[in-house]
Amino acid sequence: YGDPNQKIDYVFKVVLIGDSAVGKSQILARFARNEFSLDSKATIGVEFQTRTLVIEHKSVKAQIWDTAGQERYRAVTSAYYRGAVGAMLVYDISKRQTFDHIPRWLEELRGHADKNIVIILIGNKSDLENQRAVSTVDAKEFAQKEGLFFLETSALEATNVEAAFLTVLNEIFNIVN
Ligand code: GDP
Ligand code: MG
Repeated sequence: YGDPNQKIDYVFKVVLIGDSAVGKSQILARFARNEFSLDSKATIGVEFQTRTLVIEHKSVKAQIWDTAGQERYRAVTSAYYRGAVGAMLVYDISKRQTFDHIPRWLEELRGHADKNIVIILIGNKSDLENQRAVSTVDAKEFAQKEGLFFLETSALEATNVEAAFLTVLNEIFNIVN
């Protein structure tokens, strides 16, 4: 997960947003440290974590920001979005309400962030298939309509977490190159 002495060619700030308890912090833990915790406390104070990876022979430091329990509507401040070149908009496939709130998060994101920000919609907890409350087709359709990338992930089973980050980071990389 990265050599600390490595020279860095790019730093990309990516923000995680979405309702509380959808799994944002665990998605980040999985990506940054390959860890997962079933009883994760509501995030307190940690601003971001980083992981450096190589894209087309360049070293890219992904700086991933996690909300510190500010998921209440409009509580996420503009400082959080400032300078972000990517966003991961997360809902929980087993909680319909978290998907129904996505348009609000998108509106807030579009109000605060750069207009060229790369956005991926993420349906997390895909391991809870027997409790599914949001169909893949509905989410895909919504994403297409809004021009977002889309993937279902499981931070628990480490399914598609890497792919979700790589989708965003590769797209950002292509935009700046
Ligand atoms: P956040 O509030 O969005 O940061 O959500 P957390 O990352 O704190 O996760 C909330 C709860 O959902 C915790 O109990 C996690 O262990 C659990 N969780 C997170 N991701 C997954 C997942 O992919 N599958 C399942 N089954 N549980 C998950
Ligand atoms: Mg959290």
